Amino acid sequence: MDPATQGRLVVISGPSGAGKTSVCRALKQDPRVQFSVSATTRAMRTGEQHGVDYWFLSADDFAAREARGEFLESASYNGRRYGTLRAPMETALRQGKIFVLEIEVQGTRQLRARGVPGTYVFVVPPNLAELRARLERRGSDSPAEIEARLRIAEAELAACELYDHVVENHVLERTIAEVRRILGL
Ligand code: 5GP
Repeated sequence: MDPATQGRLVVISGPSGAGKTSVCRALKQDPRVQFSVSATTRAMRTGEQHGVDYWFLSADDFAAREARGEFLESASYNGRRYGTLRAPMETALRQGKIFVLEIEVQGTRQLRARGVPGTYVFVVPPNLAELRARLERRGSDSPAEIEARLRIAEAELAACELYDHVVENHVLERTIAEVRRILGL
C-alpha cells in the first residue's frame, strides 16, 4: 500500500452469525469510518440493496473484474464469490478515512500474505451452539445453508491467529465498545 496514504485499513472477520454485522452497523454511525462495499455473486437477501450492502454481480462479471485486477482480495464462500474492490479503498484512504473490510478468513489470509498493513479484528461467538441459535433466530438462511455456515464457522475459528485482536461477543454493547476502543474511536 502507498505509504503516503493517511487513512488506515481495518479488517473485521468472524463466523457468520457471530455478531460481526451488528458490530459493523454500530461503527457505520461514525463519520470517520467508511465501509467497503464488496462484490458478490450470491443472491440478494430481502432488505438488501445493490451498491449499499453489496454490488451483486453475475459470475461472468465477477470473473471479468477479477481478470482485470479490480479486487484487492477475493474468496469463494459457500459456493459463491466475494471480493473487495480496490478503487473505493484507495479513494477512502487518500481521504484519511478508516476503511473497514468485513471479510472472511481466506481474504484475510491473502492480505496477511502480502503484508497489507492494518488492524485485524476477529469477532467470535461464545460457542458453536450459540452460533447455531443465532443463525436460526436470524431466519435469513435455509436449514441446509445454516449447516453449511456452521461447518465453515468451525474451520474459521481455527484461523484466529491471523488477527491482532480476538473479541468474544457475549453482550453486543460491550463487544461494540471493545471494538471501538481497539480502533481508537
Ligand atoms: P454473507 O453472504 O453472509 O453476506 O457473507 C458471507 C461471508 O463472506 C461473510 O463472512 C462475509 O464477511 C464475507 N465477505 C463479504 N464480502 C467479502 C469480500 O469482499 N471478501 C471476502 N474475502 N469475504 C467477504
